Amino acid sequence: MKLALAYYGDPVLRKKGKKITQFDEQLKQLAQAMMVATVEWEGWGLAAHQVGRPLQLFVINLQGLDPEPDMEFSLDGELVPLERVRKLVVVNPILHPVGLEADTEKEGCLSLPDYQRSPVKRPRTIELSYQDETGAPHVLRCNHWLARAIQHEYDHLHGVLYIDYGK
Ligand SMILES: [Zn+2]
Repeated sequence: MKLALAYYGDPVLRKKGKKITQFDEQLKQLAQAMMVATVEWEGWGLAAHQVGRPLQLFVINLQGLDPEPDMEFSLDGELVPLERVRKLVVVNPILHPVGLEADTEKEGCLSLPDYQRSPVKRPRTIELSYQDETGAPHVLRCNHWLARAIQHEYDHLHGVLYIDYGK
C-alpha cells in the first residue's frame, strides 16, 4: 500500500476522524503502511488524516529517541520500558491529561513542511485509552516526548494542527 502525504490546505486535515468499527485486514495493512511511512518520512507519528483518511487512527514511532531518566511508561497498569511503547498503533483513542504539569517544546508536522517549528504548551503526563489494530483495549499512561507525540497526533484526529496553538 503506497501512501501519499496530505499537505496543509487539504481539507482532510480539518475533518473529525470517524470511529473505526472494523478491525479487519484492511485496517492492519493501513496501520502497517503508516508505520513504514514514519520511517520513510522521518516522523515520530502519523495520523490517518495525513494520508487522506479521516479516521480515529494514528501510529507512533519514536525512532532514534534515547530513553531519559524521567520518562515513565505504564501500559495496562504495568511499568514498561520505552521499547514496549516506542511503536504504537492507536485506534479510537480517548485522551486525558494527568496532573497539572505542562511542558513547552517546539513542534513541527510532516504535513506543514513550509511552517517553522513552533512552541506548543501541553500537559506533561497523559492517560490514553485506545484499541490496537486487533481491537484489543489498552490504557497507556506516559509523559515527556511520548505524551507530546501522542497529543500532537490525537489533535490531528480532531482536525487540530500545532499551528492553531499560536493563535
Ligand atoms: Zn502533525
